Amino acid sequence: MRAARYHGPGDIRVEEVPKPEIEGPDHAIVRVTHTAICGSDLWFYRGESDREAPSPVGHEPMGIVEEVGEDVVSVEPGDRVLAPFAVSCGACEFCRKGLHTSCVNGDSWGGDNGGGQGEYVRCTQADGTLVRVPDRHADDPETLRSLLPLTDVLCTGHHAAVSAGVDEGATCAVVGDGAVGLCGVLAARRLGAERIVAVGHHEDRLAIAEEFGATDLVSARGEAAVEAVREVTNGGANHVLECVGAESAMETAVNVARPGATVGYVGVPHGMDAGVDLFPFFGDNITLRGGVAPVRAYIEELMADVLQGTLDPSPVFTKTVDLEGVPEGYRAMDERDAVKVLVEL
Ligand SMILES: [Zn+2]
Ligand SMILES: [Zn+2]
Repeated sequence: MRAARYHGPGDIRVEEVPKPEIEGPDHAIVRVTHTAICGSDLWFYRGESDREAPSPVGHEPMGIVEEVGEDVVSVEPGDRVLAPFAVSCGACEFCRKGLHTSCVNGDSWGGDNGGGQGEYVRCTQADGTLVRVPDRHADDPETLRSLLPLTDVLCTGHHAAVSAGVDEGATCAVVGDGAVGLCGVLAARRLGAERIVAVGHHEDRLAIAEEFGATDLVSARGEAAVEAVREVTNGGANHVLECVGAESAMETAVNVARPGATVGYVGVPHGMDAGVDLFPFFGDNITLRGGVAPVRAYIEELMADVLQGTLDPSPVFTKTVDLEGVPEGYRAMDERDAVKVLVEL
């Protein structure tokens, strides 16, 4: 099969690799029809995190079930399915708690499972991981574009909003204008936030934030961003969504938090080797909640809204490529020419 592989910083190649096969009774093989390139893929692409080379890449697959192992009961060949970035069993202590990313039987895309940016993937926990798209929506191209962000960014933005305690009438600040930050805005609006301040520094992305329901846009960084948010919120927001993961973003997040506020964080921590300074949290009784998003826990709830047409994250896809265009997709995201790249196979 054809699949994208990482060969080193800045070097993604689409090449011929072995097709994954069923190796256990709970496995399924999915023929990928749609996938995406993620902001988190840029960490290794830029050489800022280590990754084996060559290795398959991608973790946001949607497609058609091709084959299932003998114990699989929730999906069958021909079903349209999507999967979160983490594989989980759905039955262990942590899955039952909605903490699927801590699944004791968990697995990931990559290695000989195939990455999400290739023609086929093997899912080692098919019943716990794969989510079926209802048949009457399974072939509508527009609907599929709107569903694909459920594999990661929409649910991750939602996790930031939930972790920050966003509720009806809330005032919140969203730090970061990448796909996750934009989905955080969408999720906060869905949860009933009345005031949503989007903080970023790309005009085109903030325009999407506005379309998604942001009531105030702050295009600045660092101290200037903090001042602007504190000004429009009269001293800080009660709910802050940290959607980047960089040390500077966490700093901005805590500095725009009102005393007693909650910061929901979902960005993979980077540049925090020296640790997070707890003093600003201590001084104003600010709570820090969140972590890696247990996407699988949120898919059904959010999918229902996407299918009824009240939730549409598809504007985060500002560029579409085919499988051979994946290297170009990485370049576009790295150079900020695209917010998020959709890959249609
Ligand atoms: Zn992702
Ligand atoms: Zn589990």
